[in-house]
Amino acid sequence: MFEINKVGWLEKDIPEIGPLDALMRPVAVAVCSSDTHMSHGGSGPAFNVILGHEAIGEVVRVGELVKNFKPGDICVVPCCTPDWGERDLQMRDSNNAHGGGMMRSFKFLTQKDGVFAEFFSVNNADSNLVLKPDNVSIDDALMTTDMMSTGFYGAEQANIQIGDTVVVFGIGPVGLMAIAGARSLGAGKIIAIGTRPNCAELAREYGANHIVSYKEGDVVEQITAIAGGKVDSAIIAGGNASTMLQALSIVKSNGVVSNINYFDASETFTIPTFMWGLGMSDISIKGGFCPGGGYRIERLLNMISNDRVHPGKLLNYKYEGFEKIPDAFKAMDEKPRDLIKSGVYINWD
Ligand code: NDP
Ligand code: ZN
Repeated sequence: MFEINKVGWLEKDIPEIGPLDALMRPVAVAVCSSDTHMSHGGSGPAFNVILGHEAIGEVVRVGELVKNFKPGDICVVPCCTPDWGERDLQMRDSNNAHGGGMMRSFKFLTQKDGVFAEFFSVNNADSNLVLKPDNVSIDDALMTTDMMSTGFYGAEQANIQIGDTVVVFGIGPVGLMAIAGARSLGAGKIIAIGTRPNCAELAREYGANHIVSYKEGDVVEQITAIAGGKVDSAIIAGGNASTMLQALSIVKSNGVVSNINYFDASETFTIPTFMWGLGMSDISIKGGFCPGGGYRIERLLNMISNDRVHPGKLLNYKYEGFEKIPDAFKAMDEKPRDLIKSGVYINWD
């Protein structure tokens, strides 16, 4: 990304690494809607930044204090790589994504260059990298780095109890993983909102019982009719500022509105007080960021190894070769109706 709305190849030096870090080269990368959103200025201006934050990488070199990894290892690279020395990571029940400050674990894109490069660096390699298990495919492993961690977090944050009725706004890759997460946590009925036909099909496969179109009639009325009233929680993984109000108006008292959507910096919520029980509804509004680090990813890989879920099905636009990264980016940016997620496989031999 040279500047807002201008992407292309950029020549840069190979990143320096510190004693705890690893230098990697990508063997598979995927494009996230956060990459395209950022390229259009969704987080404000940025200049000469290498995009990309979802990767499987091969270790090229490690710093002198790295104990667990060596050159040649094929690793899953979480999109969020906390600084494990930060004291606020010790906060009880805290999301490690915010150690050192809000979203500080999201190094790629915001604090250093991303993974759409011949080389990239990973901080705190021993705590952040995970060896790719042999019985987990590249596609499944790649989708743990962001989509599965984020989508599942949307479900965890919603405090889903066995038998709950849960609404998921959005059936893009993040929403699809929120659906899979909600099912894993024991949701009874899952109602998903979206229109793209192949996403709807995968939504059903991952656990949605009903699909509602936000393009055909009032979403709140449709959900109320299906649920027979209000729902226990709503996960927001798509939509716009008005989606927040829809979610608030369909969640029961004591329920949770669990947002994992990336709202545009230009958007504003104005919440009518009655919608939130004049402040007394006990409805929590939570906004969550993708948890990172190796331990988180290891647990997600454990679900894949044991055949609980296969997030690799999200990848339906696949490219071969480093030079195809701009094609994969363009696909994610232009979003043909059948696209779910684009990825690139790189063989350096
Ligand atoms: P997509 O664009 O692929 O999916 C968005 C979904 O929202 C689609 O299913 C779309 O429907 C649906 N949608 C659009 N408008 C509405 C509406 N008005 N009401 C209800 N649903 C609507 O996005 P992704 O799945 O890739 O990502 C979702 C969000 O998550 C993005 O904002 C992304 O930046 C963010 N994200 C957040 C992370 C975090 O840590 N919190 C990490 C990664 C991503 P349709 O089927 O019609 O297209
Ligand atoms: Zn992302």
